[in-house]
Amino acid sequence: MQKVKIIGGGLAGSEAALQLAKNNIYVDLYEMRPLTETGAHKTDKLAEFVCSNSLGSYDLTNASGLLKHEMEELGSILLPIIFESKVPAGGALAIDRELFSQKITNLIENNHYINLIRDEVKTLDTNIPSIIASGPLTSESLSLEIKNFLENDYLYFFDAIAPIIEKDSIDFNSAFYLNRYNKGGADYINCPMNKEEYENFYNILINSERIELKSFEKNAKFFESCLPIEVLASRGIDTLRFGPLKPVGLIDSRTQQDNYAVVQLRQDNMSASLYNLVGFQTNLKWNAQKELIKSIPALKNANIVRYGVMHRNTFINSPKSLNPTLQSRKSKNIFFAGQITGTEGYTESIASGLLAGINMSRYINHLPLLELPTTTMLGALTHYISFEGHSSFQPMNSNWGIVDDLIIDKNFKKNKKLKNELLANRSLDSLRTYLNKF
Ligand SMILES: Cc1cc2nc3c(=O)[nH]c(=O)nc-3n(C[C@H](O)[C@H](O)[C@H](O)COP(=O)(O)OP(=O)(O)OC[C@H]3O[C@@H](n4cnc5c(N)ncnc54)[C@H](O)[C@@H]3O)c2cc1C
Repeated sequence: MQKVKIIGGGLAGSEAALQLAKNNIYVDLYEMRPLTETGAHKTDKLAEFVCSNSLGSYDLTNASGLLKHEMEELGSILLPIIFESKVPAGGALAIDRELFSQKITNLIENNHYINLIRDEVKTLDTNIPSIIASGPLTSESLSLEIKNFLENDYLYFFDAIAPIIEKDSIDFNSAFYLNRYNKGGADYINCPMNKEEYENFYNILINSERIELKSFEKNAKFFESCLPIEVLASRGIDTLRFGPLKPVGLIDSRTQQDNYAVVQLRQDNMSASLYNLVGFQTNLKWNAQKELIKSIPALKNANIVRYGVMHRNTFINSPKSLNPTLQSRKSKNIFFAGQITGTEGYTESIASGLLAGINMSRYINHLPLLELPTTTMLGALTHYISFEGHSSFQPMNSNWGIVDDLIIDKNFKKNKKLKNELLANRSLDSLRTYLNKF
């Protein structure tokens, strides 16, 4: 009986394990928590969402939305459970993180094919078919072992987490419920600031102390679409007002006044007692975070239940190490999945776990592996990370720029929504055609 070893019971590892189990393949799933902590995870549950509770859009004309539709076509097991754990968040797909991880943990613990082992894996055995899904916070000894196995250097960037507050501590004399442009209900809590309040907020922010990075981390690189607010603020006083604190489409119906800046809060759990600060990831010292958050009028009494923190985010040099099937070039027995491959984001991590799970099942059954077409979002992503021609490789999330362009009339191309619709339909068609061949 051929058994597969999966290292890491996070988003990618859990999806991969369930895919293998679906194909009647036995799995040893290793998860080091709670014996060894990562520094970012807060529970001992599997498939924990470490920061924001949002997976972005489900809309087919959105790149991340298309990826989710492709995952449905490919039979993702985590995605339907994400929908079961959904909390209201306007156009975004957001979940109760605790509930979701509990459901995945139960599913895996009760699965006859999966043997969950709570232990840190420190060595690699290339004789055992394995999926390495140990994530951006892979333990040190395993990191070293992977580095030796791949014979090339690790890459890394920094990622920060946004704070969470208790809803009961929000002052609703200043705050109001509304989705931007009134789209799809009133799920977000908005905390407005006038010019004077914003300038005060900005001054506190740029003068606040940050948590000191370790010496080897001094030249920290950040992921451009997830920058800490203090890094954004250092680019100019208005950068935040055109970014996460933009006020457009958010007018309080009670005052009908334009706001100068707005901090949005998104529901974080099913009972709606906790809210996270959207786009507010930060590495300020905790006292400084408290002072900054309390300078926002609606949050002057805020009770912060989780502070923002920053973490080193490790990924392998996939262009030198992986095929678009997620199989390593060094050993056919070894596959990689999740953020460690450079597929950036929750949805992308689950998607690569899904592909690695499917391909490992096919490998065990001596079937040809899936190499998805670059007209699909997942195919484009896996080709992007394994493409050898990058001058400098950085993680990539789903976006229209990586999929094959459409050969259509120029005027057609100007209509972004229509173009994305055509791209999305082409993607799903090509995925179905490709899968039908197997
Ligand atoms: C601080 C931080 C904040 C982030 N915020 C967001 C966000 O807001 N939105 C977003 O889309 N993405 C975010 N990401 C990126 C990414 O989507 C998540 O990290 C995601 O959880 C990655 O999924 P994964 O399965 O690859 O890794 P993980 O979900 O981290 O799972 C890896 C698992 O492997 C375990 N493990 C590690 N080493 C070993 C070992 N040696 N033996 C056994 N088990 C091991 C870990 O304990 C962990 O449970 C963030 C990343 C970080 C680091």
